[in-house]
Amino acid sequence: KRRLLAELKGRPAVTKSGREIKLYANIGGVGDVGAALQNDAEGIGLFRSEFLYLQSDTYPTEEEQLKAYQQVAEMMAGKKVIIRTLDIGADKQIGYFNLGKEDNPAMGYRAVRICLTREDIFHTQLRALYRASAFGNISIMIPMIISLWEIRRVKEIISNVKQELEQQGISFGKVELGVMIETPAAVMISEELAQEVDFFSIGTNDLTQYTLAIDRQNERLDTFFDPHHPAILRMIEMTVTNAHKAGIWVGICGELGADTELTAAFVRMGIDELSVSHAFLLPVKKNIIDCD
Ligand code: PEP
Ligand code: MG
Repeated sequence: KRRLLAELKGRPAVTKSGREIKLYANIGGVGDVGAALQNDAEGIGLFRSEFLYLQSDTYPTEEEQLKAYQQVAEMMAGKKVIIRTLDIGADKQIGYFNLGKEDNPAMGYRAVRICLTREDIFHTQLRALYRASAFGNISIMIPMIISLWEIRRVKEIISNVKQELEQQGISFGKVELGVMIETPAAVMISEELAQEVDFFSIGTNDLTQYTLAIDRQNERLDTFFDPHHPAILRMIEMTVTNAHKAGIWVGICGELGADTELTAAFVRMGIDELSVSHAFLLPVKKNIIDCD
């Protein structure tokens, strides 16, 4: 019997055998929070903070960022809000960053690579994120990690920011730190990465691009672009196994997380969370409820 999606509102995303899967929403900004809540999002699994930078014609200030993060945190009223630090470069170019032309932008200067070499930009964002944590349940997630030293360096910078805020008498809450698993390198070192962070979120959009060596934007290659490729599914499974071995939770925030043909497979692998855009929240919930 086909259940009406609207009837699923208010019901938890629990499988027949009683396993609860956290069902969170992907957002690009404050404007998406209403639709997320209307569709039962139990949290925000991916706030793409780069939209704040894309919408502006110069670097958004600490205060401007604080306002956006705080608003989302307050609207979510204590529910988890996972904010991804700046992820530009590759398909997301911003003029005022002056990133320069590259032959291979997808494999170039982007995301955490910018944050770790232009620390002033990262520092401003981290201060805004920590200040916003005084108003809700904020977690920070780092994109495009490939090496252990990167996340260790991020943690050093975070600890400096916290110290600075303390010295200035500015309050902040407890903030969990996670990494996106979106490069084959991150998958292969996920056992070690899991020792460094509180959670993993698998970015299947980039993971697929880098694993299959197919530009995610190139429609000419659609015949070859197989998001269900066994290499991707095995990488997801490996990431889940290594996360759980270290006692941390793991979710998917790439578009594959919303693929209802795979919900049962993800549940079988032991995935803890799926973060999808608001239109997929109820369809995915239906599939979770139908899982054994
Ligand atoms: C991903 O790569 O799967 C992801 C969620 O990030 P984005 O699509 O913003 O690169
Ligand atoms: Mg990505």
